[in-house]
Amino acid sequence: MRRLEFGKERIIGVSTMKRKIGVVLLSGGLDSTTTAAYAKSLGYEVHALTFNYGQKLSKEVLCAKKVAEVLGIKHKIIDVSPFKDLAWYSALTHPELFKIPKERNIEEITKTIPVTYVPLRNTFFITLAAAYLESEILRRIEVEGVKPEDIEARIFIAANALDYSGYPDCRPEYFEKFNELLRLASKVGTQYNVDMKIEVPLLYKTKKEIVELGIKLKAPLEWTWSCYEGGEVPCGKCDSCLLRAKGFREAGIEDPLLVRLKREGKL
Ligand SMILES: [Zn+2]
Repeated sequence: MRRLEFGKERIIGVSTMKRKIGVVLLSGGLDSTTTAAYAKSLGYEVHALTFNYGQKLSKEVLCAKKVAEVLGIKHKIIDVSPFKDLAWYSALTHPELFKIPKERNIEEITKTIPVTYVPLRNTFFITLAAAYLESEILRRIEVEGVKPEDIEARIFIAANALDYSGYPDCRPEYFEKFNELLRLASKVGTQYNVDMKIEVPLLYKTKKEIVELGIKLKAPLEWTWSCYEGGEVPCGKCDSCLLRAKGFREAGIEDPLLVRLKREGKL
């Protein structure tokens, strides 16, 4: 099997020949919006995917739509609501069974895997994203005649190993194994040796650094939604709201979402 020589094409200066295709998992939150803006800034043809799995965050889905519009990227909203019935053991899929933790301190948030973990969600979503990405690659190769070695294909996911160290499917070793699987399980991996892998640009970033990156890339953060509650305004008490607030506070920046809500008279 051909070894992937990462970055070589840049050294020999043929990067302009690369066809960079990126599928971004866009939830409509702060992190995934920053990730989408990042993929775009790297020159990827960005396809954003938002999965509607009947989560409590359907407000997030609307935000994702707005974010994709503002970023000018392709966007698909995929209804995978039956997933909710299978991955039922979670406060995000069944808020009537589990209480979303509130007002916990940062140490408590990161200590154990919280009930907001959705069983195998990342694995399911990445698999769907990979199926879409592989289809796009196959079209380039088999219909358009693009050389497989000229394709750089990435699945961008906004996982973070620091703030949410509890989630098992947000760890670097998880993504390493998944990349192996993508190579072994796909036609583009086995027959065409296409450079297809997962990219996790925020993996080791703190919330403060993510906020700073989002601002630097001019990501439309005013349209992002992080709150686990789907209210008119963020609750300010759930883990996600607390982490987001901490990030903006440490970056010394007022949250553009709150600025917008104030401007609209909702806060
Ligand atoms: Zn909240």
